[in-house]
Amino acid sequence: MKFSGKNVLITGASRGIGAQIARTLAQMGLKVWINYRSKPEIADALADEINKNGGVAAVIKFDVTDEDEFIKGINLIVDSDGELSYLVNNAGITNDKLALRMKTDEFTSILDANLTSTFIGCREALKVMSKKRFGAVVNVASIVGEMGNAGQVNYSASKGGMIAMSKSFAKEGASRNVRFNCVTPGFIQTDMTAVLSDEVKQNYINNIPLKRLGEPREIAETVAFLLSDHASYITGDVLKINGGLYM
Ligand code: NAP
Repeated sequence: MKFSGKNVLITGASRGIGAQIARTLAQMGLKVWINYRSKPEIADALADEINKNGGVAAVIKFDVTDEDEFIKGINLIVDSDGELSYLVNNAGITNDKLALRMKTDEFTSILDANLTSTFIGCREALKVMSKKRFGAVVNVASIVGEMGNAGQVNYSASKGGMIAMSKSFAKEGASRNVRFNCVTPGFIQTDMTAVLSDEVKQNYINNIPLKRLGEPREIAETVAFLLSDHASYITGDVLKINGGLYM
């Protein structure tokens, strides 16, 4: 994969999909900044693994819901490397409950964690990337932002919002050669889906045309493509990675 930029920040990269995105982009030659919120030992172990395997990785601690910390994090990267070429807004959480039982703050807290944080990341990246007239952002949304899901009115609203917002950022960023795209993973094997019962998982698998859950590698490689020069004419797009569950 060919990249004209040199470094990338991946939020929520200490485990799951984010960690695999870090490994993949490092293997492809980018310096990766691994953002973590709470577990330095896991983030450090991932950076060590990447550095030992010939990549270049650094860790950076901040909570994406803290605007000041997020902005400071991006500034630190720009001070260190002279630029931020790419951003992957990957950090995200769920708090599932049927809508009739969901308190308003259980709705808004998921919007803050997933959607508002992505807004802050996109805005700050656009500021920095505009100066170089170059950059690309991929936002990790979700299949449920496209098709909805019972028990996830908060999460699906946040992910659907990410999709619409990315298209607006794409329109604002285009004149500065900054691209914004989304990926919408289906059900992927990580800690987030490990909490589902075997019965629920089997139900999903029965409905997935490819008859299996996805792997983090399959998300990471698509993210890499969208950031790369191979996708230089793709902006404001949404790439589904869901085994055919939602077409
Ligand atoms: P995961 O295994 O639960 O990992 C989530 C990561 O996000 C963790 O590293 C977590 O850090 C970090 N994070 C959460 N809140 C954060 C915050 N406020 N600030 C900084 N980091 C934060 O989740 P995943 O399955 O890899 O999901 C990654 C992304 O893909 C999420 O946006 C999710 O919505 C999306 N997605 C996942 C699936 C799926 O099936 N797994 C499907 C569609 C979309 P800590 O270790 O500190 O908690």
